[in-house]
Amino acid sequence: AKSSGKNRVVVYAEGMERAAQTKAELITDLDSAVAEGQFAVHYQPTVELSEGVTTGYEALLRWQHPTRGLVPPLEFIPLAEESGAIVEIGRWVLTEATRQAAQWSRQAGRPIDVAVNLSPRQLLDDDVAAAVRAALDASGLPAGQLTLEVTEGVLIDDVEAVVDTLRALRLLGVRIAIDDFGTGYSSLSYLRRLPADVVKIDRSFVQDLGTGGRSTTLVASIIELARSLHLEVVAEGVETEEQHAVLGRLACSHAQGYLFGRPQPAAVQQPAAAVPVPQ
Ligand code: C2E
Ligand code: CA
Ligand code: CA
Ligand code: CA
Repeated sequence: AKSSGKNRVVVYAEGMERAAQTKAELITDLDSAVAEGQFAVHYQPTVELSEGVTTGYEALLRWQHPTRGLVPPLEFIPLAEESGAIVEIGRWVLTEATRQAAQWSRQAGRPIDVAVNLSPRQLLDDDVAAAVRAALDASGLPAGQLTLEVTEGVLIDDVEAVVDTLRALRLLGVRIAIDDFGTGYSSLSYLRRLPADVVKIDRSFVQDLGTGGRSTTLVASIIELARSLHLEVVAEGVETEEQHAVLGRLACSHAQGYLFGRPQPAAVQQPAAAVPVPQ
């Protein structure tokens, strides 16, 4: 028993070593991935529920690694945060997403909004407002059509600095969304502290809508709270007609999810069509 325990430790240590090596390799590869053109932005529609039209898209980053294939964002974004590569990558996403939204807006003859995720490290980079302004200038996208999504993770470091940066970004005219709302330990306190325009209700709440649990009451309360604070609400992760119907009854203004559309390359999305959502 003793020796098998020892072997387990050895196997575990080898596994750890491999993981550490993979991580180190990915961090090195991330450094050149922008220059090598390995990133793509996929776009997922945001739907205005009362009219059933797509008003905009969330930009979601994809990394096509030359040997490992598609690496999911939840795997590489924390590494890019750690190494600092996220600053350059984030700028690329901003440039790409604003350019795409401006092009779609011209083609559709109506404003097509875009939302870009910002990680904590990007917000602490003192040039983020300049990077956002540069992307808006280069694309010609009106600032009001760009939303920047942040999570409560931005509050673990220098809260004052983060709030100052978000204020500066809002002065440019862009909107700030609190992403994954309701999952943090202190959602109400960051609602109080962060200057925000939009709350995105986390998928975990939306998933349980209509199943008879407490989620419907919680989502109703979040929507009510947002309304009284004059914030827009986006329900994330809507997958079923039933969830859609409940959100409609709760007068939720906007939603996203596989029911309306999966994240897809820009070439696959057709914002001009303004297809009504299934009722
Ligand atoms: P997020 O910002 O909360 O994005 C929503 C995630 O839920 C996306 O995963 C999306 O594909 C997925 N999703 C959307 N609708 C549904 C649905 O109906 N059902 C289910 N099961 N999932 C749905 P994805 O694309 O893998 O992105 C994961 C996370 O990676 C994002 O979570 C975001 O935190 C981060 N991320 C993605 N792109 C960027 C980026 O450009 N910059 C930064 N800093 N983070 C990013
Ligand atoms: Ca998001
Ligand atoms: Ca989210
Ligand atoms: Ca999330």
